[in-house]
Amino acid sequence: MTRVLIRNVAVLVVPEQGECRVDEAQDIHIHDDLVTAITPTTADSPTANPTDSPTDSPTGSPTGSPTGSPTGSPTGSPTGSPTGSPTGSPADSSTASPPDGLAGSPTDAPSDGEVIDGTGLVAVPGLVNSHTHSPMVMMRGAAEDLSIADWFNQRIWPMEVNLTPERVRVGARLACAEMLLAGVTTFVDHYFHADQIAAAAIESGIRADLAPTYFSSAGADGIKAAVDTTRELSRLHPRITASLGPHATYTVTDDDLKRTAEIARAEGFRIHLHAAETGDQTQASLDNHGVTPVQVLERTGVLEAGALIAHGCGIRDDDLPILERYADRTAVASCPKVYLKLAMGEVTPIKGLRSAGVQVGIGTDGAAVHNTLDVWEAIRMSP
Ligand SMILES: [Zn+2]
Repeated sequence: MTRVLIRNVAVLVVPEQGECRVDEAQDIHIHDDLVTAITPTTADSPTANPTDSPTDSPTGSPTGSPTGSPTGSPTGSPTGSPTGSPTGSPADSSTASPPDGLAGSPTDAPSDGEVIDGTGLVAVPGLVNSHTHSPMVMMRGAAEDLSIADWFNQRIWPMEVNLTPERVRVGARLACAEMLLAGVTTFVDHYFHADQIAAAAIESGIRADLAPTYFSSAGADGIKAAVDTTRELSRLHPRITASLGPHATYTVTDDDLKRTAEIARAEGFRIHLHAAETGDQTQASLDNHGVTPVQVLERTGVLEAGALIAHGCGIRDDDLPILERYADRTAVASCPKVYLKLAMGEVTPIKGLRSAGVQVGIGTDGAAVHNTLDVWEAIRMSP
């Protein structure tokens, strides 16, 4: 058993309801990578000074770092927090509190473990990157200063059609490392070769909800392969969950969306897809089909099954009552830096969605658009 005590650290507590608060001077007790208790720091708490520690280190080297900061612990004062995992992923990423009943557990000094001095630092819950395409980090900077059409058709798509499983895995490894260093402990991904992304996530220690992407143009066999991958990933590892990943309302037909919704309902999956990404897209849907993308999601049963909608900048006021009906199982991921970099002139209508009871998560989208996977940065840019 490995034990770590983070001593005298401020803890950001994010309750399920109500305001966040900061509890000063707390000790965080960690056994085998799990937080087992958070207790007030007392005068007789073990200190980080190795000379005060009862531990006899056989090598003579200190087991704690009296002045160093815990790895990856941000030192800035948080100005916001993610709203939790919109897909219902692990609950431990939405709160810094230990499970009920643990906060008052007796302090057990880790006589055989490491003591880290948290003085002057704040411990925060792991962030959730609620929408990304992690392997695209390897395309960072490869398509700059272009219209969105040229960005995709001239630069990104030619690279994506030549992707190999190995390259996806390399990109996902880099993305997992970057996200962990930026305080992200769960990412919600939408990409090809998702089995390779799962392998990278398992290797890194991060949590992931993975949606193997498909287009109707892939045909029945291509869609079946993606759905089968979702099934396999859902059984793969405790830190991996899986969703169905139709690309978008404009690249997947209504019939395929209906079949997706049926599978989701029958097998308990969520559906992660792009919809109403811009006002123009919503207008094109109205012009071509007489319905908004949100109405497409309702009439195909996607909302009924439960969905994570990426972007939603083109969600209209009269879409909100529709989303409100499915608010217990539908969420929207907002990636504000994308909208700013592309000068879209519109953002996810977070206030309207929240007033309709719809959860909104913060994401980065793929790093090929705006070059980072930093959720703190996205939170700062949120309207
Ligand atoms: Zn996306």
